[in-house]
Amino acid sequence: HAKAGGRDSVALFARSMLRDAQQKLTLEHDLGQALDRGELAMHLQLQVDHAGTPAGAELLMRWTRADGSMVPPDVFIPVAEAGGLIVPLGQWALRQACAAWLALDAAGHRLPLSLNVSPLQFRQPDFVEQVRAVLAETGAPPQQLIFEVTEGLLIDDIDQTVARMRALSELGIRFSIDDFGTGYSNLSYLKRLPLYELKIDKSLVRDMPHDQNGTAIVQSVLAMARHLGLRVVAEGIETAEQAAFLAAHGRPYMQGYLFSRPVALGALLDQMDARADLAA
Ligand code: C2E
Ligand code: MG
Ligand code: MG
Ligand code: MG
Repeated sequence: HAKAGGRDSVALFARSMLRDAQQKLTLEHDLGQALDRGELAMHLQLQVDHAGTPAGAELLMRWTRADGSMVPPDVFIPVAEAGGLIVPLGQWALRQACAAWLALDAAGHRLPLSLNVSPLQFRQPDFVEQVRAVLAETGAPPQQLIFEVTEGLLIDDIDQTVARMRALSELGIRFSIDDFGTGYSNLSYLKRLPLYELKIDKSLVRDMPHDQNGTAIVQSVLAMARHLGLRVVAEGIETAEQAAFLAAHGRPYMQGYLFSRPVALGALLDQMDARADLAA
């Protein structure tokens, strides 16, 4: 009996693996068509300084399927990376970022825009050329774009990464390390890279200011960034208490639901217009 039971559970396990694999394939297949079907959109989430003044916005990809259901990027970005779709999606995202910047500028709102760049996209041999081409085609100023990369990019071929970052920096593009504090712990790379910014991960912000360890890590990152001359954005700010704590400790830029959710470009334009009216 024990043997039969074991065989049954192996069969069950194999079946569930098969189902997972099939779901991934379906997702990958549908994602491949999502661009052409207009199911993808870029939303934008405002970043503010300690006084609440807009300082930038991050572009975040959204996928709404034909039946109205949403697939979160934490699910579909890894699928896109596994299947190679991240390259066309990333190119499309860059075009969208340029178009969004131009639309904001035309409405009188000059905001640097941050874009997540997948390591796979970054490692494409012609990535620099691709970026140069999109900039030339759209006319968006590279000085207004910040590429967010994760520490995962720094694990292998650091020399190539440094060279490529330098080439893009020479175009005017700036770099940010996203999800800082969650990944690779060797900090020596920080001085080798042409960096502009660190983004403190929301998992560190979440426990602040009550959890002593979380708070200590955030304060250390702020101190380190100050010594290195890097700008800091803290992400995932949800409470006024978190914002007040940061305003009293190094005043990093802030991004989170407390200020705004990620919204469509039209809604961001409305937010910015409303602020301008308020200021006038
Ligand atoms: P990320 O780049 O670290 O983006 C920040 C995430 O935190 C976003 O999740 C954002 O909606 C969420 N967030 C912002 N404020 C708050 C808050 O106050 N509380 C909480 N709980 N969450 C907050 P989202 O949009 O689901 O994106 C998840 C991840 O997917 C991103 O993390 C990024 O790694 C990836 N991603 C999104 N768009 C793109 C893209 O265009 N290209 C690439 N390569 N990756 C993308
Ligand atoms: Mg990001
Ligand atoms: Mg992040
Ligand atoms: Mg992330």
